[in-house]
Parts: sequence; structure tokens; C-alpha cells
Amino acid sequence: MVQGQPSESKQLNLLPADEQSEPLRSDMTKIPFLDLKAQVQSIRTEADEAIARVLDSGQFILGVQGETLEREVAAFCGTKYAVAVASGTDALSLSLRASGIGRGDKVITSAFSFIATAEAIFSVGAIPVFVDIEPESFNLDPKGVEASVDASTQAILPVHLFGASAAMEPLMQIAEKHKLIVIEDCAQAIGAAIGGKRVGSFGHAGCLSFYPTKNLSAFGDAGMVVTNDAKILKKLRLIRQHGDSGGYQHQVLGTNSRLDEIQAAVLRVKLPKLDGWIQARRKRADIYREALKGIPEIQLPVENSGTTHVYHAFTVRVPKRDAVRKHLNEAGIGTQVYYPAILPSQPALRGLASGGSFPEATLAAASVLSLPLYPELSDGNTQRVAQVLREAVKAL
Ligand SMILES: *Cc1c(COP(=O)(O)O)cnc(C)c1O
Repeated sequence: MVQGQPSESKQLNLLPADEQSEPLRSDMTKIPFLDLKAQVQSIRTEADEAIARVLDSGQFILGVQGETLEREVAAFCGTKYAVAVASGTDALSLSLRASGIGRGDKVITSAFSFIATAEAIFSVGAIPVFVDIEPESFNLDPKGVEASVDASTQAILPVHLFGASAAMEPLMQIAEKHKLIVIEDCAQAIGAAIGGKRVGSFGHAGCLSFYPTKNLSAFGDAGMVVTNDAKILKKLRLIRQHGDSGGYQHQVLGTNSRLDEIQAAVLRVKLPKLDGWIQARRKRADIYREALKGIPEIQLPVENSGTTHVYHAFTVRVPKRDAVRKHLNEAGIGTQVYYPAILPSQPALRGLASGGSFPEATLAAASVLSLPLYPELSDGNTQRVAQVLREAVKAL
């Protein structure tokens, strides 16, 4: 099941950790936290054909597949343009760079996210200023953002965590008032929307990841920036390919962050299915909600009215989280803790970031538990996860 994914597979714990040591009773179905093979099977023939066409074309980097995918993803997200890059992390750092964010600039971001959000800020020489979250959405609290703006602040980097939109309307108002750049981290939230407007289309740029575990995933690393800003588009196109404007004329110092045609072709097979997969995720979230309602110990994820949550993760809060997780694990159910520590207390960031205190993010890190949720998870297995979680909480 673990497919040699260096960073997240370790964190993801795709199968229960003690799988080998403690064989399950034979009447128990194992329910992995994630099952990437199921989706591959569902598109196998189309993907094989798409890959074969790339092999026959002899064009492997920056070709017709990548260009077409850019247009299709821009249309999906409701932006004018998109630029394919090598990963979601690159999407973040290159869009900061393309927006002119650099040394000494402060970038306000969420204290509760994946490390890549902070790494991207450091990668351009800027300083992250962490702000606490709203407890319901797990996302950046606009009041904290407003209070943190100072003369060095140049950008806000909201994260749409778990597939729930950050509060983009108040955040954009703050940005407009203080003339700040807004780069959205949409790595977990492609298709999420506020009033029908999709994330990535609010700020100056939206950053997507197509890492194999994300809602739209490649067979390897891949990412994209969506934007309505022609200047950012132009810069990104230069930066991702050594600043080359053609014929070895290097306008700026760039890097190599390109998307290959095989990944683009696979993503083009999957993109038309994404809306259906989002519906399937939402349906499973409904099953969880119905089966877990009215249990005071279990706090369910909140879907703010007027927003569309895409449930990259179905993240509940429970008391004695580690004991609950162990109970599920022993019943053969894989879960994940996104994330066990807030960004400012990650060992790599200690002493490097500025910001205040983060009581809500700290509470979240201590209580969150993400349950299995993917389009291919059967209704019966979704029910079973809920049932075992109810039992686990009762047994506390
Ligand atoms: C996955 C992820 C990223 C990084 O994307 P990669 O494609 O793995 O580089 C950034 N931010 C968040 C919130 C993510 O979940």
C-alpha cells in the first residue's frame, strides 16, 4: 500500500500501524486510511491509453498535454490562466516569487497547516507570521490577520485546510485595505467554493498540489498555479524554466519546475471525473455526520453555509485522541493526525518565525483525528468506521 512516497506516506500511515504484529480477527474488514489503488483501477484503461499516446508523441516536457491541462484546470477553478509546475510546494514558492515577495517581507499565514506552507515562505527569504485559526473551520482567523498586519507585511497566505474554504471575503478586504498580495494554498481544496466561486480564484494566485493523496492526483509529483493576473502568469512561465523567454535568452534567474507530459495526460483523464469524486466524498461525509450526530464527545467538521467543502479529510475532534485512535487501529481502521503539532512548534521552525500565541491551533493539534474518506470507500465501510468510533468514544 505504501508506494514509496517519501514525505507523506510516513505521516499518512496508510494502514494500521500494528498490522503485522497483531493479526485481526477474520471477521474484521481492514479499512485503510487511504486506498490509492482503487482509483487507479477505476481509470486504468484510460490512463494506460493516455500514457501510451505520450510515449508515441516523443514529447515529454511542456507539450500539448500540459498546455491543455492548464486551460482545463483554469476553467475548472474559474480563473483566466494556469501554469503547471513540479509540485504544490513549488506552486507556493514560485507564486510568492512571481508576486515580488522576497527578503525581509512578512507573510501572514496559518499556524495550523502542512510544513510546505511555511517552507515556501522561507524559500523566498520572507518571514512567516503565524496567526491562530478559527476553531470551526481550522482556517486562518481574519481578526488575527488584521491585528498582525504591520509595515513589513506584504502578503497573506491562507490555507484551505482539509478541503474547507478559508474566510476569503474578509481576508480579501483586509488585503485590499493594506495593499497585500494574497496567495491561496489550495493543495487540499481544489473545487471547494464560497457562494459557487472556487478557491484559487479569490487571491492573486491559487496553488494546487496533485500529489498522489490529494483530491486530484497524479501518478507522481505535480502542481499548478491558477491566476487572473497576467503579470504573475508571465513571470511564472519564465521562472519555472530557468527564466528562458526563448532561444536561451534568460530574462530572470529561474529554476526547473516543469510538469511532464505523462503526469499532465493522467491528470487530464482524471479532471473530468473530479466533480463526481467530490460528490462521492460529500456523500460519505453525510454518512459520517448522520452516524455520528448527537454524541457530545465527537465534534464534527463544520461546513459553513454557502460554502462547498470537498472533504480532502473528514476531521473530527475527540477527547483522548490517541486512545481513540488506538481503538480504531486495533479494529483494523486506519486514521491520521493532521497535524499533531502546530507550525510554530515544529523543530525546524523554532525561533525562526514571529507571531503571537495560538490557543485554538494548539487545541486542534491535540484533538484532531482524520477518518478514512475517499470516493471508493464503500457506504458499508463508512458506516463501520462510524460505529467503531462511537464504540471507542463510549469506552473512554
Ligand atoms: C500537500 C500540501 C502542500 C504541498 O504540495 P506538494 O505537491 O506535496 O509539494 C502544500 N500545502 C498543503 C496544505 C498541502 O496539504
